[in-house]
Amino acid sequence: MGDTETETGAERGLAGFSTRAIHAGQDPEPTTGAVIPPISLSTTFAQDGVGNHKGFEYSRSGNPTRTAMEIQVASLEEARYGMAFASGLAAEDNILRLLTQGQRVILGNDAYGGTFRLISKVWAPLGFPWSAVDLTDLDGLRDNWPSDTGMVWLETPTNPLLTCFDIEAIVSIAHERGAIVVVDNTFATPYLQQPITLGADIVVHSATKYLGGHSDVVGGFVATSDDGLAERLSFTQNAAGAVPSPFDCYLVLRGVKTLAVRMDRHCENARAVVDLLVDHDAVERVLYPQLPDHPGHEAAAKQMRDFGGMVSFTLRAGRDAAMRVAAATSIFTLAESLGAVESLIEHPGAMTHMSAAGSPLEVPDNLIRLSVGIEDAHDLVDDLAAALDTI
Ligand code: PLP
Repeated sequence: MGDTETETGAERGLAGFSTRAIHAGQDPEPTTGAVIPPISLSTTFAQDGVGNHKGFEYSRSGNPTRTAMEIQVASLEEARYGMAFASGLAAEDNILRLLTQGQRVILGNDAYGGTFRLISKVWAPLGFPWSAVDLTDLDGLRDNWPSDTGMVWLETPTNPLLTCFDIEAIVSIAHERGAIVVVDNTFATPYLQQPITLGADIVVHSATKYLGGHSDVVGGFVATSDDGLAERLSFTQNAAGAVPSPFDCYLVLRGVKTLAVRMDRHCENARAVVDLLVDHDAVERVLYPQLPDHPGHEAAAKQMRDFGGMVSFTLRAGRDAAMRVAAATSIFTLAESLGAVESLIEHPGAMTHMSAAGSPLEVPDNLIRLSVGIEDAHDLVDDLAAALDTI
């Protein structure tokens, strides 16, 4: 077992998103009746005769706790197959192995710095060209399509500028030209957006973020409904072996159960923070997909249930002021990462996106990124207002 084939929510006939989050892949354990899938630490599984086993042989190839989580998350993404990885970047690396040498990756021109680093610094020197493209410009994408393109890779909303791209439109352009589309759904989560239902070939996650949701596990996830892609992706999942531990799978599985309620609160709190920022004199620009003038607002409104818990903004007073504000909050913790219950603040240019300096993906140096948590909104607003007053 490696790729975990699952039925999509619709096929399973289960009612809704949270019902699947809590039950898909998680039937009570048959021997004891345990309601929660056990953390199966066994690395190997007894066989009755050679090759005659109960579905598991060796835990790199497949593990019961991992299978439970793979079925759960794939079901939420409305995907037939799900594969768990040791980190988001391990998941990304596994996907890039689908390319044959000489095939190009078109990368949206705003993306996580580590994704940029993997594509441009690890894969490009091995003979896999790449280009950064503004994917809000669909005519430009059509007109300047490099003929060697094998894959379009996009985040929506992007990290850290929160630009949104029209998944259906990009899929249609890419598929007409024979390329596959990978959507990094880390920021939206399957609760807010399901790229497979919009035609994307593959969804990838840093499960470290909203899926885990509590800043206590590093993980990655890949989902697809394409039989051929699933076969190749699961072959490499096993052959290269970047799989998560059973305990890590358990933590993601547990986090995902509350994804819907957490996301509703993240979105609500993000709106309270945006309301403060849009009216604040020190703020130059607020980046949040719900704002009507936000790049890709229409795409976001069309394809997302709500606009997410991430908020970015730039300061009129520039880089040094941004550094000071990032260090001046007390409830928002100054730290990398995002998507957990606690609020975080960071300076992307000097932290998460430092590897993109000098590249087409470089971010403004007066930019601050917030991962708005699920604390009480008024405390978050007061904390941020006090930090802005220090400028
Ligand atoms: N994709 C996005 C959008 C991210 O923000 C990150 C990490 O911040 C990753 C992928 C990489 O995931 P990981 O840190 O779990 O390897």
